[in-house]
Amino acid sequence: MTTPVNLLDLDLEGLAAYCESLGEKRFRATQLFRWIHQRGVSDFDRMSDLARSLREKLAGQAVVAAPPVMSQHESKDGTIKWLFDVGGGNAIEAVFIPEDDRGTLCVSSQAGCAVGCRFCSTGHQGFSRNLTTGEIVAQLWFAEHFLRQHLGTEERVISNVVMMGMGEPLQNYDRLLPALRVMLDDHGYGLSRRRVTVSTSGVVPMIERLARDCPVALAVSLHAPTDELRDHLVPLNRKYPIDELLRSCIAYLASAPRDFITFEYCLLDGVNDAPEQAEALVELMRRYAADGLKAKFNLIPFNPFPQSGLKRSPMARVQAFGKLLNEAGIVTTVRKTRGDDIDAACGQLAGDVQDRTRVHERMARQRTVVLHPVRPASGPR
Ligand code: SAH
Ligand code: SF4
Repeated sequence: MTTPVNLLDLDLEGLAAYCESLGEKRFRATQLFRWIHQRGVSDFDRMSDLARSLREKLAGQAVVAAPPVMSQHESKDGTIKWLFDVGGGNAIEAVFIPEDDRGTLCVSSQAGCAVGCRFCSTGHQGFSRNLTTGEIVAQLWFAEHFLRQHLGTEERVISNVVMMGMGEPLQNYDRLLPALRVMLDDHGYGLSRRRVTVSTSGVVPMIERLARDCPVALAVSLHAPTDELRDHLVPLNRKYPIDELLRSCIAYLASAPRDFITFEYCLLDGVNDAPEQAEALVELMRRYAADGLKAKFNLIPFNPFPQSGLKRSPMARVQAFGKLLNEAGIVTTVRKTRGDDIDAACGQLAGDVQDRTRVHERMARQRTVVLHPVRPASGPR
C-alpha cells in the first residue's frame, strides 16, 4: 500500500489539484477543506455533504493526521503548551496565550534550529529536521479545535498566529508557505495578514521572497546594535549583516500588511543591555529611518537555561532600556513573561525530551494541570 496523503499538508490549491487527480470537481476541495479546518473533522465518514463514493476514495488513500501530543501543560495564567512527538526522538511545541482581546498561538517550524543563537535553547539543541507543512498546520488545527471543545464554543478561539516557536521559519520556506496560506484562507482559518507574524533571525533572501509570495506581519530578531555583537549572538549575522537585513526590512514594508517591522531584542545581563547600547540602537534606527524604515521594538526578558551561561537582565535595566528607546520616539514594549511556570518560551522544554525522566520531574515541579487525556494521532475528533 502506498503511504496515505495527509490532507493537512495541502493548501486549498493543493487540495483542489488532489481532488482533480481523484476525478472530482475542484469545488469538492473547498467543502473538504472547510470540514477539516473550520470544523476540525478528521473522519471522512462524518463529512455528510460529500458523496459516499468520494468519502470511500478518501478513506482508502488519505488521512487528516496531526502528530501525537506527548503532553499538555496549563499555566496559572491560562497559557497552554503542547508538546508534539514528531518521531525520531524529536518533539516540538506550540503555545496558546490567551489575552483579553485575542488568542495567540505560537507555532514551531523546525525540530531544532541550525542558526544556533547563543541565548536560545532550541539553538543549543542543533538542527534535527524541517517540519512538514502538515506538521506546522497540525499545531493550529489541533489547538483550535481542542480549545473550542475545551471551552465549549463553536466560535474561533485563536485569532493570531506567531511563528515564534522552535526553528527558523524562513529556513523552511517551502513548507512554511502553504501553511501560511491555510492560515489565511477564508475557507481555512481566515486569519488576517496582520494577525499572522513570521519571526526571523534574518534570512534576507527569504524575507524578499515572503514579500512577493505572502506578505504577513514580520518580526525580526535583532538583539544587538552592532555587527560585532550580533555576529556573536545570532551567528547568521555573519552571512546577512545588519545593513543588508535592515535594507530588506525597508523593502518588505512596501508589501507588508502593517506599516512597521517589529524588532525583537532579548535582554541579556551585561551583554546587550547597557544604556550605551540602547543609544547605539537609537542611532542605528535613525540612520535607516531616513531611508524609510519604520520600527517598533519588543524587549524580551531572557528566559534563562543552564547551558547558555547567560542571565536575565534585572527588570530595572529592561525598563531603562525601553525608556531610552521610547524617549527617542521608537515605540517599545516589554514582553510580558507568560507561562513562566511551564517554561513556555522558545524550546524551553523540548530540549529535555531525550531525557524523559527529567521532563517528568519538571512537570511535577510545575504543578502541571492535565486538562483531559491527550488524544493520539487523529486529533480533536
Ligand atoms: N527563529 C525565529 C523564530 C523563533 S524564536 C527567530 O529567531 O526569530 C522566537 C523569539 O524568541 C526570537 O525573537 C528569539 O530571539 C526569542 N528567544 C529565543 N530564546 C529565547 C530565550 N531563552 N529567552 C527569551 N527569548 C528567546
Ligand atoms: Fe533558531 Fe530563532 Fe532560536 Fe535563533 S532564536 S536559534 S533562529 S529558533
